[in-house]
Amino acid sequence: MSKSLRDDLLSLLALQVVDSQIEKAKATLAATDNGAAALGAYNTKKKEAEALRALAIKAQSEQKDTELKLETIETKRKHEEKRLYSGSVTGSRELENLQKELDMLVRQKDAAEENVLLAMDAAAEAVSLAETAEKEQLLQASRFKKVRAHYEARHKELTAEIESLKAPRIAAVAEVSSAELLTRYDNIRGKKQGVGCAPVGSDDACGACHTRINTQAADAGRRGESIVFCEHCGRILTPAH
Ligand SMILES: [Zn+2]
Repeated sequence: MSKSLRDDLLSLLALQVVDSQIEKAKATLAATDNGAAALGAYNTKKKEAEALRALAIKAQSEQKDTELKLETIETKRKHEEKRLYSGSVTGSRELENLQKELDMLVRQKDAAEENVLLAMDAAAEAVSLAETAEKEQLLQASRFKKVRAHYEARHKELTAEIESLKAPRIAAVAEVSSAELLTRYDNIRGKKQGVGCAPVGSDDACGACHTRINTQAADAGRRGESIVFCEHCGRILTPAH
């Protein structure tokens, strides 16, 4: 049983309503942040934190080295000092040499102490930089988790919505008796942001591109006795009701 073209055009308009809902859900899903950027930021921060932690470990090890050097000098200095006051060294030349050695060790000790202080400062700064980056890494991780959880929830909702529109779409398609009209509609819809047909407004404007069309075409579109296309956007024009 074939319907009149006017009824078919109205059925096509009803199909467009369902298709627009599907398109809208798909577009919303596509526009929802899936967390890729947040994950990228997290990975960048993680690398940075790891590099800074490695530098901190190196600086701490350097500090330990300077401390060991100081300890070695100090042990030697104490040993030589003990020898000086023990009375075991008696020759004046030997004593003079020992005193020179001690003076040199004192200078070395002063320099080594200075090195320990510098290394301590450097290590403290490196540790602080690493800790700051590690805190930021944790923040980035929680940001990513939040964005991702939101996306997954929206994904679930929107795919359920798209799924629930499948049966109404099949029913709406079944209402259009002309296979040719359906094919034309689907072709235009594929090229025109998901909108294949639009009603002609009382102001003679195309319901899709909102451009005023010529009176003759507008009247023909409203009557629905023939297939008329919007002269601006190329969509099928339908009666409003
Ligand atoms: Zn148009």
